[in-house]
Amino acid sequence: MKIFQMSDALANKIAAGEVVERPSSVVKELVENSIDANSTWVKIDIEEAGLQKIKVTDDGDGMSESDSLKSFLPHATSKIKNETDLFHIKTLGFRGEALASISAVSKLKIKTSEGVNSGTWIELEGGKIIKQSKSDARKGTEILVEDLFFNTPARLKYMKTIHTELGHITDLMNRLALSHPAIRFELTHNGKELFKTAGTNELLQVISQVYGMNIAKKMVPVNKGTLDFQINGYIAKPEITRASRGYISTIINGRFIKSIPLSQAIIRGYHTLLPIGRMPVVVLSIEMDPILVDVNVHPTKLEVRFSKERELFQLIEELIRQTFRHTTLIPEMEQTEPKKRQSFQPSIEFNEAKQEKPESHFQPKTTQVQGFEAYQKNEKQPELQVNEEKLSTAQKVVTDEIDTQTTSTQNRVAIMYPIGQLHGTYLMAQNENGLYMIDQHAAQERVKYEFFRDKLGNSENTLQELLMPMTFEFSKQESIFIDQYVEEFQKVGLFFEEFGNQTYIIRSHPTWFPVGYEEEVVREMVDQIMANEKVNIESIREEAAIMMSCKGSIKANHYLNEKDMFRLLEDLRNTTDPFTCPHGRPIIVHFSSYELEKMFKRVM
Ligand code: ADP
Ligand code: MG
Repeated sequence: MKIFQMSDALANKIAAGEVVERPSSVVKELVENSIDANSTWVKIDIEEAGLQKIKVTDDGDGMSESDSLKSFLPHATSKIKNETDLFHIKTLGFRGEALASISAVSKLKIKTSEGVNSGTWIELEGGKIIKQSKSDARKGTEILVEDLFFNTPARLKYMKTIHTELGHITDLMNRLALSHPAIRFELTHNGKELFKTAGTNELLQVISQVYGMNIAKKMVPVNKGTLDFQINGYIAKPEITRASRGYISTIINGRFIKSIPLSQAIIRGYHTLLPIGRMPVVVLSIEMDPILVDVNVHPTKLEVRFSKERELFQLIEELIRQTFRHTTLIPEMEQTEPKKRQSFQPSIEFNEAKQEKPESHFQPKTTQVQGFEAYQKNEKQPELQVNEEKLSTAQKVVTDEIDTQTTSTQNRVAIMYPIGQLHGTYLMAQNENGLYMIDQHAAQERVKYEFFRDKLGNSENTLQELLMPMTFEFSKQESIFIDQYVEEFQKVGLFFEEFGNQTYIIRSHPTWFPVGYEEEVVREMVDQIMANEKVNIESIREEAAIMMSCKGSIKANHYLNEKDMFRLLEDLRNTTDPFTCPHGRPIIVHFSSYELEKMFKRVM
């Protein structure tokens, strides 16, 4: 074996592999340079998802002739000078690798000027300067990258479809725009405008440009300052959720970062407000002394290390909790658009005098709602299939005990007679086996969930034509996925038609779509495609059933009369799994006669 030192050209190509993985990494490095150069406007023009051409133009500081020549040398940077600077990084770049790496694997032209006298124009190929001249004196920089990976064909093989690469670029632009609301960004692909922000320093406006108006409308501002941290941003009301964490954006000192513990702190802040398995939409920008955050731990600087992380995570969790404590979380229902989210009319009539203010002003009855009520009137019972596996040991004890009694073999709980209600929340009931406490909300959720699950599960995948097409506004990222996965969507009965401006219409949908929840189901399908590239109908039906059962089930602090209590207990007894609600929380707590006697030392 013999050791050789690599030529600079070879070493640069290898280094380039780390920095320049795909077209979006080039866009990232060039735009970050523009941001570091104090630009107020950055325009990105790309062709063929960047593989053919990437041009980034800015109105930033620009470079002098000698700096521009140096900027392509490996480890050439104006951003740090010594090791101490490494602990006070305020810029997005600092390693001085990007321009060297990008120019090593492309044909690159740069035009730059500080705005005085003339500017500089340089042309490089594979990292070598091949031409140089003077240019005009427009202040700012324009970098054109063509034929990316022309001399590293192996890299080209890793490129996915144009759609995927373009998806990475728009995703990146979303993140850059959210992190820099004061900068005006423009993105075009093959001459067509894809994305544009106003640069007015209004984060909510950027959120609206990235995620659409409907989400922006449901965002609540948060801000809090402590000695160490300044937190600003927007958090979506819990009624807006997504299947993945991809909609949690965290920005530290203007740098978009990924931090699982930070996202977890945000999710904890939502506490039980989020349905199980659902993620919030959040944009949080956190400013701190650069000394408190180490950005030099990850090649793409996407991950960072905090020195006061416990304090920071607690602060964020508490901030979100506090915010929702002071925010009305009852979803506002647009009366003018009765098709959207309709809530369930509780089938149980409450004792008017003590009842909390009902949310009936946004509850127009729908066929589906009547479907459930009609079901209740008909006394039609869902099929009973005892799923023994699902039972925990504790629940088994109850079942076993009950199964041996006088009871119908179909029901897993013996008939229970109400004796009262505790705090308007728990029903107390008895029979010869002892005392039962039942969470009334969880009980009704279970009843409704099984009803809807059977109803949705039995329907065929036939299509229902709509009198009025439904309109959806999607984010850029979502719309790219919709275009790419047209066939996947068609397989599950969704035929999107493009309507311009990230807006799509559908003229039909599968008949099993629950009335009033079509929008949620469609969005859930889009989320699933983005996360898994396919739609899992079973899980969507399951989720839809859970969603419908939860919304509008009687909440705590609602007083029921004896007849209603008995009715609820009977409905519960007739479910397949009367012991847990669809979210897995217990419904029934049982004190056996024997336990009661033991508690009072009647038996030893
Ligand atoms: P880094 O950003 O880590 O310093 P780069 O290779 O990305 O390294 O850039 C090298 C240097 O070139 C930067 O430090 C900066 O001085 C200069 N530079 C790059 N892009 C621009 C730009 N758009 N405007 C002004 N200066 C730039
Ligand atoms: Mg840089």
